[in-house]
Amino acid sequence: MRRSELSSRLHELEHTGLMRRRRQVEGPQGPHRRVDGTDVLAFCSNDYLGLAAHPALAEAVRQALHQFGVGAGASAHICGHTIVHEALEERLARFVDLPRALHFSTGYMANLGVIPSLAGPGDVIFSDRLNHASLIDGARLSRAEVIVYPHRDVEALDLLMYKSAQRSKMVVTDAVFSMDGDLAPLPQLLTLCEHHDAWLVVDDAHGFGVLGQSGGGALSHWGVKSQRLVYIGTMGKAAGVFGAFAAADSDVIEWILQKARTYMFTTASPPILAAALLAALDVIESESWRRSHLTALIERISSGLTGLRWPLLPSSTPIQALVIGDNSEAVSLMESLRRNGLWVPAIRPPTVPTGTARLRISLSAAHSEQDVDRLLTALAQLARRGHPSGKST
Ligand code: PMP
Repeated sequence: MRRSELSSRLHELEHTGLMRRRRQVEGPQGPHRRVDGTDVLAFCSNDYLGLAAHPALAEAVRQALHQFGVGAGASAHICGHTIVHEALEERLARFVDLPRALHFSTGYMANLGVIPSLAGPGDVIFSDRLNHASLIDGARLSRAEVIVYPHRDVEALDLLMYKSAQRSKMVVTDAVFSMDGDLAPLPQLLTLCEHHDAWLVVDDAHGFGVLGQSGGGALSHWGVKSQRLVYIGTMGKAAGVFGAFAAADSDVIEWILQKARTYMFTTASPPILAAALLAALDVIESESWRRSHLTALIERISSGLTGLRWPLLPSSTPIQALVIGDNSEAVSLMESLRRNGLWVPAIRPPTVPTGTARLRISLSAAHSEQDVDRLLTALAQLARRGHPSGKST
């Protein structure tokens, strides 16, 4: 793009309902917040278990601050890998029941690092059509051939894998699709990967801490295990902090540790975050009521949203998506809710496919039943009025 095109391109974003605007948030993370100077009830955070402002995590940070200061000083390979990072990796591996884990600064960086470590030119990567941007970018960065398969379509994938002549194959998938809330069929995908001698890279950003016995994530939910599995968990969502990790067999992790450029060429994350994450794992294990309460809220909202004029995508997770279709209508509906003191984000392309703009409602264990009912009442009123902006048609 030339410099002279910039303002017309910005204008085009505005005109097509694709301009993004950040809102200024005050106070700790939680459903009840002050946003742009007014009180709102928020349904937009991935803090699924309500840990982001948990006192035990804050206390862990306070203590680690005293012990380690703020910065890690350098990349992990140089001198940034502290005893608290090591303790976190050991704990994470046990938590997801895999032999070894490697801590990355973010999920985005984990995916950009892991995929190109294991796939390169001459290889092929099969990617679900609704995968997260970081998996798409990781696959592109690898310079392997990328074949996109229809969403969750195991038969179509099988056929594509049969047809492909490449030596080394990899399947990459979200475990819980971030904008739809549905689950990838991991057992069937693993069977295919066994059959075609392929890697299976599973990004469990939205399942870690939420799914499975004790919050162990998607692998525990499905009861799958394999030497060809590479698991990515992120910790800015249910764990309430920031960061991510890859977990797999020891030699796989050793290879990623040697090769992942987003691990090697970046400053290690602050040790205080690793300390907060250790505390988060304690809470995830000990406060199981958070998961049961969340499950009850999911059931409540999905039955309340069914039958409104907008289709609700099938989901048993805290991500509930009402498909509006048109970008501007989705934004208009978001604005109507905002005027009612409710914050639900409108998700538009390129985050979701064109024509499927949606309201992405995300639930947290920090929400109450009354919070959920307030949103349901507001949406039902808007649906009755027939126009998302609240004006009658
Ligand atoms: N994978 C998925 C499926 C995600 O939804 C996200 C974040 N939205 C990421 C990876 C990136 O994780 P992080 O925010 O830690 O960079």
